[in-house]
Amino acid sequence: MEQETVCYSCGRTVSAAFTYCPWCAAEMADGAGYARALERAAAADRGRSAGADRMHRIEAELSSMEAALASFLDRVPRSR
Ligand SMILES: [Zn+2]
Repeated sequence: MEQETVCYSCGRTVSAAFTYCPWCAAEMADGAGYARALERAAAADRGRSAGADRMHRIEAELSSMEAALASFLDRVPRSR
């Protein structure tokens, strides 16, 4: 039976004989590359966390802009 491993980048099952993941083209992590793969995964996780913080800030800004727009439109007379 063919040996299989899991791509650290996309998580798909890949033949251990492959040097690159056929799904996402990431270089397959061998024993020597494992620490590097963990570091990449940790960096991606930090990036996601920063992205989530940014989305929350944008959401708050949009809410305040929406409130300001609603308050402005309340004061504008409607045509006809
Ligand atoms: Zn992959």
